[in-house]
Amino acid sequence: MTVSPAYQIYSDADRITHYNEKLASFTEADRPYTRLVFSKEYHAARAWLSDEFQALGLECHSDAGGNLIGRRQAGAQATAPQTVIIGSHIDTVPAGGRYDGIAGVITAMEVVHYLNAHQITLPFTLEVADFLGEELNLWGTSCLGSRHMAGLLNAEMLARRDETGRILGEEIAACGGSGMPPSGARPDAANILACFELHIEQARSLYDADIDIGVVTALPAIDRYAISMTGAVGHSGTTPMHGRKDALVCASGIIQQVSMLAHDIASRSNQHFVATIGKLDVLPNGATIIPGQVEMILDVRSASNEAKSEFLASLADALDEARQKTGCDIDLALLATAEIAPMDSSLQSIITEQAQALSLSHTPLASGAGHDSAHLSRFAPAAMIFIPCVDGLSHCAEELTSSDAIAKGAAVIIRSILSLAEQVAK
Ligand SMILES: [Zn+2]
Repeated sequence: MTVSPAYQIYSDADRITHYNEKLASFTEADRPYTRLVFSKEYHAARAWLSDEFQALGLECHSDAGGNLIGRRQAGAQATAPQTVIIGSHIDTVPAGGRYDGIAGVITAMEVVHYLNAHQITLPFTLEVADFLGEELNLWGTSCLGSRHMAGLLNAEMLARRDETGRILGEEIAACGGSGMPPSGARPDAANILACFELHIEQARSLYDADIDIGVVTALPAIDRYAISMTGAVGHSGTTPMHGRKDALVCASGIIQQVSMLAHDIASRSNQHFVATIGKLDVLPNGATIIPGQVEMILDVRSASNEAKSEFLASLADALDEARQKTGCDIDLALLATAEIAPMDSSLQSIITEQAQALSLSHTPLASGAGHDSAHLSRFAPAAMIFIPCVDGLSHCAEELTSSDAIAKGAAVIIRSILSLAEQVAK
């Protein structure tokens, strides 16, 4: 007789597959899997999700940030008005995947299934959350719902328009939010015991090492800079090489330097460090014109403030050198910044204990990507677990993990919530 692994009693892989397939069906038909925040596919998926939350017996509402919340009330034994939040997001990037965020929302539903099936009342309220619009959107911001919950979505962001003139605040209001800037973190922040989020790793370390559970230690600091280079346009045929101020030549040197500096720092640091220039606008962008202007965006992510400071100091030197070499003006402007978000250490311990108890392999690891949990951690103890995804692929249609891998993560979170319940009851 074969004995089933312990994690399997906590959730149902077939049901996870069903939820996953259902959510995957809400996509732009000719561009799977695309469910952009505020799109008709997004609204349809949310309507379905709201019905599912209610079928689970959750009291369903949208909060001021447009987050879809399903609430399971605390049992009568609760002595204090405490809350545990579990969730993630169901929006995708264009032509994204079926698991990024989605796995975390399905996990939250699996937690409720387990509690319902075992008629467990918790000594705290459990909130299942689909955080509004986590992915970077047309309004130049991300993590709309969790940012709002943390009190960090400001009036300037809410007033932004996309290319077609849609105002962000109005779109949030159409999702049941207020569309107004919050006056601070949610009013009951002091009563939030814990926030949990399961997510695919979106990198390959767990997959390569065949590890079930990543216990996330911190989410990276994220800084985005606009670098603009101004040279001089000229006829490509008649302007001699000597004395040219070619903004694209200047930009290419900076791109090389950014990569070299980041390689160097990453190789010496035991913490995650990456820097990328992924967006470039060349003006006037003609084959016979010397480029007079280049605008580019530098994205820097670091789990270490020291590494970031070292990089920025070296970058300043590199920009000076590029100015002298090319004669171009160079301007560096900070577009957005977020501090390192450490995950709660006692929640990390609980997660590690529960993974151990389930005989699942586990390891601490830092995230390379930002997540809703970064914002949650600004006002409450937050924890994330990562599960492996095949070849580390993410933000593409090939993104893949198994229902079994999600079930393992769900089991760890269910046991962690039960462990918290025991601590509260003491
Ligand atoms: Zn995500």
